[in-house]
Order: sequence, then structure tokens, then C-alpha cells
Amino acid sequence: MKNLKEKLFLTIDEINERIITIRRDLHAHPELSGQEEHTKYLVKGILEVSGYQIKESNKHFGLIADLMVDENAKTVAIRADMDALPIQEQTGKPYASREKGIMHACGHDSHTAIALGTAIAIAAHKEELPGNLRFIFQPSEESKEGGSVEMIEEGALEGVSAIFGLHAYPYLNSGEIGYKYGVMMASADVFSIEIFGKSAHGARPHEGVDAILVTSMIVNSLNHIVSRMIDPLHPAVISLGTIEGGKASNIICDHVLLKGTVRTINEEIRNNIPQMMEASIEGISKSMGAKYKFDYEFGQPELINHEKIVNIIVDEAEKIIGKEKCIDLIDPVMGGEDFSEYLKLVPGAFFRLGTCDEEKKTCVPQHNSRFDVDDDALQVGMKIMGASALQFLIQSNSLHKKEHDA
Ligand SMILES: [Zn+2]
Ligand SMILES: [Zn+2]
Repeated sequence: MKNLKEKLFLTIDEINERIITIRRDLHAHPELSGQEEHTKYLVKGILEVSGYQIKESNKHFGLIADLMVDENAKTVAIRADMDALPIQEQTGKPYASREKGIMHACGHDSHTAIALGTAIAIAAHKEELPGNLRFIFQPSEESKEGGSVEMIEEGALEGVSAIFGLHAYPYLNSGEIGYKYGVMMASADVFSIEIFGKSAHGARPHEGVDAILVTSMIVNSLNHIVSRMIDPLHPAVISLGTIEGGKASNIICDHVLLKGTVRTINEEIRNNIPQMMEASIEGISKSMGAKYKFDYEFGQPELINHEKIVNIIVDEAEKIIGKEKCIDLIDPVMGGEDFSEYLKLVPGAFFRLGTCDEEKKTCVPQHNSRFDVDDDALQVGMKIMGASALQFLIQSNSLHKKEHDA
């Protein structure tokens, strides 16, 4: 007699080619954040046929799909993001983007396909499931606000006991996964600074207040915050991405706009940074006779994995791909990911799915016009995702039974 996971793996093997076709279809028809309409209807159609109950939003193209088998049992969630990026694809692959200037350059096409495949395979064994499944297909991961917040506001986590997510990862070989205990990714905040000076003739600077000079001093001082005011054992990044100002070569500039991002992996440091920044902006502006406006917007929090759920993923993955292909990533990265919003509310974990295969040219970094994932990784993703979700349900079910027996 085969157990449930073995049966699930057989089903995944059977549907694998179909899932690859779906992934390539999604890749050829990418949609930007907030515009995932085609993707949503493709996902919805497949899930309905598989017996899922679908909850749609009237505000965005995200959807929640439930497979309820027992309302007294726990529910485990799997999340996939669906959006693409404003990049012109240059892979030259037969399934390359048909949309001008839009591309799945982060691998969210593979995330959607993997979640779909896992959903189809699990639904094929509905009678034997130890609990309930929820699939969260989320829009707008790449947007500044992050689509996860809206999904949560609309009830995506209601009744959910644990959540799993993954991300394609070109820094690991196809067939490997990367896991990480604790903090895996950074918080991602954005800010803007406006400096108001006074214009004057370029030859008579003493009659004006030079917003460019004030800005240059601020840029300099902001770059000293991380190196001189934050404990070097705690990583933080303050990066300025844009600077705009000035009208002509012979006019003292009266207005400059700066925009940037802050990344940290420590909540306390994160909360202190805006004050540190403002203290330097205020001091410099005042001393130079300029005025300023400082806007700081807290974005996604740090992504913190829960130990028990990481353990489940690692245990299942070791059985599926072997211990040597399960890589402990050790160091966090300073990139952000809005899966962190779910992890603030329910236990869960995010893992990296290796997608690099030199021959297939799938080792290019994300957000690059030549990025692509190796389709052979999809099967690994589906099996680890499916087995981990089932294992969580099996474990919590046996706990539930023990409580009753006692
Ligand atoms: Zn991305
Ligand atoms: Zn991504």
C-alpha cells in the first residue's frame, strides 16, 4: 500500500508536462503588478475543475482557493505570487514574453505553476486528506505596497494554521533547495526628501540658498548613518536611488527631490533609522538656511521563518531530493519579499527553489532581461511544497487526536 505522499508524488509525475506547459504559457503572457487578469482566469478555471471553492476580490486579481474536507481539522495555506516586471525580455526562448516591455523576470510564473500543480495533485487525493488546503494566488508582489496586505485584509489567513511559500533561486542548482532558520530577508522601506532653498543668479550665490549644496551634504551624512551610528554586527542599508533638481547652469537651485530605500533585518534598528535620518536632514538644512520635507514609509517587514515549519520543509526535502541537495543558506539577504506579512500573523516558512542549469541558460540573476527558470525545478517545488503541507496536517491532526484521547 502506498502512503498519501507517495500517491501525491505519482500524480505530480503524471501532471508534470502539463504544469510545464502552463508555466510557459504564463511566461509568454506576463502581466504587471495589479494587472494579473489573464493569469487569474487561467488559475481560476483550473482550480474550479479540480473542485476548489474560489473566493475572488473585486479590488484586485488575487484569489483564494479552498479545499475543505473537515471543518474541525486544521487548514494549511500555500501562497504563490503572479505578477511580472516592466523589463523587455531578451532570453530568445520559444516561450519568451509576447508582451512588449513586460517579462516574468522574477520567476513568479513558476511560483504560480508550482502552486497550481500542487493544488491539482492534492485535490486528486481529496478523500484521504488529513486536513484542509488553501491556495493563495496573490497579485502585486513587485509593487511598493505589496499585494499580500490586501489579501490578508480580505481574509486570506482566516482559519489558517500555517503557511508555505517558495521563490525561484538562480544561485542554487536546479534540483536543490535553500532553507534558512530565523530572519531570511530584510524589511523594505522607502523615503523621500525634499530640500527647499532660494534661487539666485549663479554668480551671486550669497543671495540664495543652494538646495544642491545642502542636498550634497545630506547625501554625505546619510551615508555615515550605517557606518557610524549602527552596530556593525547588524546589517542595514540606506540607499539613495534618485536625485532631481535644478533648472539651468547659471541659476542657484531652489528645490531638490531625493528618493531612496532602507533595508534592515532588525526591527529595533529599523524603527530608529527614520529619526537618525531626520536629525541629520534637519541639522544640515537649518545650518544652511534651507527647509525640508521628509517622508518615510514603512514597507514590508523582515521575513522571519518559523523553526517548526522550516524543520518540516527540510525533513520532507531531504527525503525527496537527498540531504546534500538541501542547502542551509546561513546568511539573510537584504532584498524584501511581501510573504513576510503572512509570517507576521501565522507560523510558516519560505524556501528557495534552485533553478540554475548552465546548459539551459537559467543561472542569470532575477530582474534581468535574460532571467529564466529551469522547468525541471517545478517538479521538485511541487513535491516539497505538497509533502510539507500534508506533513503539517498529519502532525497537527495526530496532536489533535492525542488531545482528545487524553
Ligand atoms: Zn522580484
Ligand atoms: Zn519575486
